[in-house]
Amino acid sequence: MAIFALITSMGSKSSTKYIFVTGGVTSSLGKGIISASLGKLLQARGLSVTIQKFDPYINIDPGTLNPYEHGECYVTDDGAETDLDLGHYERFLNITTSQANNVTTGKIYHTVITKERRGDYLGKTVQVIPHITDEIKRNFFKLGGNGKYDIIITEIGGCVGDIESLPFIEAVRQAKLELGPHNFVSIHLTLIPYLEAAGELKTKPTQHSVKQLQEEGIQTDILVCRSSYPLPMDIRKKLALFCNVQLNCVIEALDVKTIYDVPILMRKEKLADRVLTLLKLPKTEPDLDEWKAFLGRLKNPTEEINIGVVGKYVELPDAYKSIAESFVHAGAANECKVNVKWISAESINDADADEILNGMDGILVAPGFGERGIEGKISTIKYARENNIPFFGVCLGMQCAVIEFSRNVLGLKNAASTEFNAKTKYPIIDLMEDQKSITIKGGTMRLGAYDCHLKKGSKAHQAYNKMHISERHRHRYELNNVYKKQLEQAGMIATGINPKSKLVEIIELKDHPWFLGTQFHPELKSTVQNPHPLFVNFVKSAVTFKKNIRQ
Ligand code: GLN
Repeated sequence: MAIFALITSMGSKSSTKYIFVTGGVTSSLGKGIISASLGKLLQARGLSVTIQKFDPYINIDPGTLNPYEHGECYVTDDGAETDLDLGHYERFLNITTSQANNVTTGKIYHTVITKERRGDYLGKTVQVIPHITDEIKRNFFKLGGNGKYDIIITEIGGCVGDIESLPFIEAVRQAKLELGPHNFVSIHLTLIPYLEAAGELKTKPTQHSVKQLQEEGIQTDILVCRSSYPLPMDIRKKLALFCNVQLNCVIEALDVKTIYDVPILMRKEKLADRVLTLLKLPKTEPDLDEWKAFLGRLKNPTEEINIGVVGKYVELPDAYKSIAESFVHAGAANECKVNVKWISAESINDADADEILNGMDGILVAPGFGERGIEGKISTIKYARENNIPFFGVCLGMQCAVIEFSRNVLGLKNAASTEFNAKTKYPIIDLMEDQKSITIKGGTMRLGAYDCHLKKGSKAHQAYNKMHISERHRHRYELNNVYKKQLEQAGMIATGINPKSKLVEIIELKDHPWFLGTQFHPELKSTVQNPHPLFVNFVKSAVTFKKNIRQ
């Protein structure tokens, strides 16, 4: 029975090949970018690729995490709150990911414990091996089951040697055995530190982490070495010998100016070629023309602008990763260098707004939660509105724009969102009806893609060049439709509406060169291949603003 189950499960995934990426020595080495770059190089050879991330922490998903913990929470079309690496996968590969692409220890245990309570284990003792590892493997192979992918890259979060990553590494070991030869590749990413005093690159930490993986049953096939200096041949040879990998499978990953250089760098190091050899797949030439054209535009700008991003987690740009990358894409599309100035909302008030913001050619007020920094965001918006500076409000940024307009144009004193003033006389932004009874925080926001219909002739319509769009959401509060008419009469127009719920998704100011707020998160859908139209248009309006005002 068990053997039969194994054979059938192998049959269903037999055409898909699997690459597992682990990391050692330290966290934040860039496994996500290496995985995305490898994915790109394979995709550029006509293979169908997806990437998934397994995170060893206990949270069911990062939705309940503060951005200071793991950076931005990335949201997929199907409403999964995921690790920000999924953003890299989508931006590099121009694919959409889903609930299945990000799995945590919490999710695995939740499923196993739910099954145990249902009695599914028929009186057996439920253990890490085989029950937890079986559930991890089931998730490894989930996306492979539909026959859609030639290759699935699985990034294992955290570092080899961490207690919490042990079940995942054990599941990778078992997966290799089940998949058989030429269906599995193990890539290990490590750091080669440079010791200033000795003037030497050091391989010992890498040797140790490869050895640790071996102790856990996995032999590294390809070693990707992060380094600030090129790896001389003697170092490569030493790594190959001590880590038991082929010399040509020691890959150098040098520090780069832009993450979008990494696929080209990995191409030079022949990372994908090594993978294809190990998987016994034909080695064809990758088509990277479009990618190189993007890099060409990115690196040869003819314009330059300053964009102020006003938010409350500005010391940590990872908290706004997708916004930062959207500006890279939109900048390249406009052949314009976009200097993003990260500005703390708490540092701004009506009196100092000019001093802080007057060099900006465009201002974006960032998404967020809670009261901290709200008044600074409102002062920022007042400044942008009154000085005709291109303004883009995203989610909370849009809500603050409506509050600012209500207070300062409609004269509704102390108008607010009930998120930070439950007793306000003017609840311009309020909880959605179906949110009012919700008390559990995890996974209960308005999440994922919703349709939106645009108003003909609006800036949004001009930017998208179509009437119907779909964008991703992550919020609980909404523009209160009771005030819509009043807002529109005074010049703040709802130019994007959800066709079913009639919720306002986009607002624009009639008498302003470019003032637009979105209840959704456009930044989550910007990719190298498809820069987001609103970001492209916003950057364009900032270029125009600079030309008109500053010359
Ligand atoms: N805090 C606001 C809400 O929940 C906005 C959320 C956001 O900016 N993502 O509606």
